[in-house]
Amino acid sequence: MSEFDLVILGGGSGGYACALRSAQLGFNVALVEEDKLGGTCLHRGCIPTKALLHAGEVADSARHASEFGVNAQFVSMDMLAVNAYKDGVISKLHKGLQGLVKSRNITYIEGHGRLVNKNTVEVNGVAYQGKNIVLATGSYARSLPGLEIDGVQIVTSDHATKLEKVPSSVIVLGGGVIGCEFASVWKSFGSDVTIIEALPRLVALEDESTSKQLERAFRKRGIKFEVGTRFASATKSPEGVTVTLENGATFTAEMLLVAVGRGPVTSGIGYEEAGLTMDRGYLIVDDKCRTNVPGIWAVGDIIPTLQLAHVGFAEGILVAEEIAGLNPRPINYPGVPRVTYSEPEVASVGLTTAQAKEAGHDVVELTYDLAGNGKANILKTAGSIKLVAKKDGPVLGIHMVGARVGELLAEAQLIYNWEAEAADVAPLIHAHPTLSEAIGEAHMALAGKPLHAHG
Ligand SMILES: Cc1cc2nc3c(=O)[nH]c(=O)nc-3n(C[C@H](O)[C@H](O)[C@H](O)COP(=O)(O)OP(=O)(O)OC[C@H]3O[C@@H](n4cnc5c(N)ncnc54)[C@H](O)[C@@H]3O)c2cc1C
Repeated sequence: MSEFDLVILGGGSGGYACALRSAQLGFNVALVEEDKLGGTCLHRGCIPTKALLHAGEVADSARHASEFGVNAQFVSMDMLAVNAYKDGVISKLHKGLQGLVKSRNITYIEGHGRLVNKNTVEVNGVAYQGKNIVLATGSYARSLPGLEIDGVQIVTSDHATKLEKVPSSVIVLGGGVIGCEFASVWKSFGSDVTIIEALPRLVALEDESTSKQLERAFRKRGIKFEVGTRFASATKSPEGVTVTLENGATFTAEMLLVAVGRGPVTSGIGYEEAGLTMDRGYLIVDDKCRTNVPGIWAVGDIIPTLQLAHVGFAEGILVAEEIAGLNPRPINYPGVPRVTYSEPEVASVGLTTAQAKEAGHDVVELTYDLAGNGKANILKTAGSIKLVAKKDGPVLGIHMVGARVGELLAEAQLIYNWEAEAADVAPLIHAHPTLSEAIGEAHMALAGKPLHAHG
């Protein structure tokens, strides 16, 4: 039997980050992975979708080239070439990650792991014992009752990142982050796209004003959507898939993407038998990612925190540092930056207006329209920066819509996490002409000294 300080089950964002940091702290680490190091994010999630979105952006640039005085034409998508570009990015990052794991002397174990007792993971009949066990088995794409995923006509994001042709039409079931990103990709690629969302608005976890702006922008792009109506059934025919909603409306398209959320991978691998506390399949942990069983930790998509790669990284690092006795600060989840990488992008940190009010704050709001920003005009993008703040107090939330606003989150999250007030940010000079000026302008306006703002 091999013995380690940590045995980590799952080599995705949460698991590998924990392995890298633990090894850096001098621990003897084993990392178990049954598929590919890097997990969902690298192979089926963040990276492939962002590559597809970038290909879509290039297609749109070609389509709109004449608006900028450039003679170019959008002809068609070459999905073989798109996939070669996307897979090239994945493969380079995958190799880099494999090198990193090797260079830190982490014992990498390939195979299906199972928790067999509170300090042992078994892989291919071999027991690996750890003073600590870190569970990081990630998540899978959920479906709905009566909806059978066949990978051809009815697909999940796993299939959608690997398509060899552009579907002529798609129904996207689910208007959350993943659904909106794929809707954006396919519209850019030339498909006819309809989103169906049961909640009353797209990206429903965002501030209400954000949803309105995204919906307006999608409408302008010709992306159709139905919100506030629930899915009833889907039937397949050689021509495509027909979706019927509870209100009786029907939609037919060549393909149906099911993007109704992701469930934790926690069953059949010994978690129940080990006596781990779970709620609807998620492992329940404290603010240091400890489960109820001493010595067993859980990170990433299997715990009920935001299902984001950078949250997995942070939780993995937190566990490594806690085991090393560094007493790291628990993660402040509202302070985690969130992006929907559609066109336009949606980016936010902190509380929405509704959440801030619910928390009992005396709330003030300020919205700076990107129409007043030079760079936004150069890019021909529309959107805004909305600040939610406590009256005479710190900024409680920043909500942005527009091309490339995801890049503005670096500053927005510092403002939120350092509890800055508008008057602290207003004197900071932002380079002209950048989109980041809009953040400066918004804080100047909230501090009572607007510059490029009417009224
Ligand atoms: C389409 C899509 C787009 C996304 N885009 C973004 C984005 O832009 N930004 C962002 O931050 N997040 C994004 N995410 C979310 C992000 O991918 C996840 O939050 C992240 O991958 C979670 O990391 P994890 O380590 O918890 O799980 P995973 O990455 O799922 O890794 C778990 C690993 O455990 C392995 N495993 C499971 N069970 C076993 C077992 N019994 N034995 C051995 N190995 C096992 C799996 O093979 C897998 O590799 C996206 C997700 C999807 C699906």
